[in-house]
Amino acid sequence: MSTPRFSVTCTRKELIAENIYEVAFAKPEGFSFTAGQFVLFDVPLLDNPEDIQPRAYSIGSAPKDDELVFAIKSVPNGRMTLFLENKMQKGTQLSLQGALGNFLLDRTTPKDYVFLCTATGIAPFRSYLRSYLAEETDRKIDLFFGLLRENELFWEDELKEFQKQYQHFNYYICINRFVQDEAMSAISDFSNKQIYLCGSPLMTKAVKEIAISQWHVPKADVHMEGFI
Ligand SMILES: Cc1cc2nc3c(=O)[nH]c(=O)nc-3n(C[C@H](O)[C@H](O)[C@H](O)COP(=O)(O)OP(=O)(O)OC[C@H]3O[C@@H](n4cnc5c(N)ncnc54)[C@H](O)[C@@H]3O)c2cc1C
Repeated sequence: MSTPRFSVTCTRKELIAENIYEVAFAKPEGFSFTAGQFVLFDVPLLDNPEDIQPRAYSIGSAPKDDELVFAIKSVPNGRMTLFLENKMQKGTQLSLQGALGNFLLDRTTPKDYVFLCTATGIAPFRSYLRSYLAEETDRKIDLFFGLLRENELFWEDELKEFQKQYQHFNYYICINRFVQDEAMSAISDFSNKQIYLCGSPLMTKAVKEIAISQWHVPKADVHMEGFI
C-alpha cells in the first residue's frame, strides 16, 4: 500500500536555538501516526519550485496534539534550509508523505528506557514523552541530550517540567560531552535497560556498538534512527 499524501499548512516558525527552527503545521484531517515516526516533506528548490525532492523529519509532537511539530536544523545551502529560511511562514502550504518509520517505543518490555540523542534527534523522544510519560510510571526513563554548544539547547523547559512532575523521569544535558559518557556516569548497570538512539549517524552507530559490546545490552534492545 502506498504511503498517504497530505497537504499541510504552517502555523508557526520560530528560531528556538542557534540554527534550530521549531516549525508547526495544523494536523490534517485523516493523518495518523505513532510516536517516533517521521514524514517526508516535498521540498521545492528555492530558485525553481518545479524541482521537488523529499526530506525526512521526525515528528516531535504527540498523536493527541493538534499540531505536527518539527525541530529542523539549518545547514549551509541545504534545500530545506533555504526553503525554511526564505519561504516558510505562517500559511505556507507543503505536501508530505507519512507517517513512516519503525522507531517506535517497545511498550511490551518490562525494561527501563534510556534515550540518547544529539540536537534535533530529540524530536521522536519528545513525542514518546508527550505520549507515554504519564502512563509508563513503572519503569525509569532517562534522556541524554547531546549538544555541541549551550546556545544550541532547546525544549529544556518542557523536560524540566516533566522531571518535576514525574519521579521516574530524569534528563541530562550533555554540552560538548559524549552522551554515552554521561550515560555511563549516571547508570552503573545496563542489564535492565532498553536503549534508544537518535540523531547524527556517527553517534547512533558508535553508541550502538558500545551498548552491545561494553554495556552488554542485547542487540534486540538497541533501537536507532540515524538522521542521514
Ligand atoms: C528518518 C530521518 C529523520 C530525520 N529527522 C530530522 C529532524 O527531525 N530534524 C532535522 O533537522 N533533520 C532531520 N533529518 C535530516 C533531514 O532529512 C535532512 O537531511 C537535513 O535537514 C538536511 O536537509 P537540507 O535539505 O536542508 O539539506 P540538503 O540539501 O540535504 O544538503 C545537506 C548538506 O549537503 C550539502 N550538499 C547538498 N548537495 C550537495 C552536493 N551536490 N555536493 C556537495 N554538497 C552538497 C549542502 O550544502 C548541505 O550542507 C532526518 C533524516 C532522516 C533520515
